[in-house]
Amino acid sequence: MRYPKLCRIVTETQVTDEVSKASSSDRCFHWQLRAYLADGSEYSGNYGDAVSLQTLKDFHRRRLQILAKAGADLIAFETIPNKLEAKAYAELLEEEGINIPAWFSFTSKDGINVVSGDSILECASIADTCRQVAAVGINCTPPRFIHGLILSICKVTSKPVVIYPNSGETYNAERKEWVKSSGVSDEDFVSYVGKWREAGASLFGGCCRTTPNTIRAISGVLSNKSSPSLSDKMEM
Ligand SMILES: [Zn+2]
Repeated sequence: MRYPKLCRIVTETQVTDEVSKASSSDRCFHWQLRAYLADGSEYSGNYGDAVSLQTLKDFHRRRLQILAKAGADLIAFETIPNKLEAKAYAELLEEEGINIPAWFSFTSKDGINVVSGDSILECASIADTCRQVAAVGINCTPPRFIHGLILSICKVTSKPVVIYPNSGETYNAERKEWVKSSGVSDEDFVSYVGKWREAGASLFGGCCRTTPNTIRAISGVLSNKSSPSLSDKMEM
């Protein structure tokens, strides 16, 4: 498929507002079961034994139906913390007959595994097998971890790789605030972009604590060289 220049991309955050009127914060609280559980599992990806594949599918099915009817060009499943949730999304897309492309984006705290400890290789493989998934990647993860994760993802899929890291600052879950001192500047953030592209990433952006200046700087880097053609890679 070809993406229009301006996609209507809907994310979990939007459907949270529509469905559950859940409260939001300045962290990216994508419509999460883990936020709904309010037990801190949004930071660990560990939902416990009580949450099965079926639990996740039951929770997310109605939300997915609403997103599919909203006229989106693409549905972003982001900040995915474990392989169970990726599997739930993949099965729902199939069962609901969704014909809108999606991307699956995972989070990592160590550059090797997703936050639950599940292997990024296993998670990306699940995304790879899903027909509707048009891109696979990483979001809300410190820039220093991104390069290795791109290389891992490229081992198990030929789908385009999407990355939108956070600023590298640390989120203090107990105090519900970002710790400013550990972040990277827009200049430093952008210094990674060429490396990420060489490693195989095709879609770039910024998640929590990045700013319009970050996006402007990324755009500047990418427009200096011709980017790989996405349209060829985005065939569904
Ligand atoms: Zn984020």
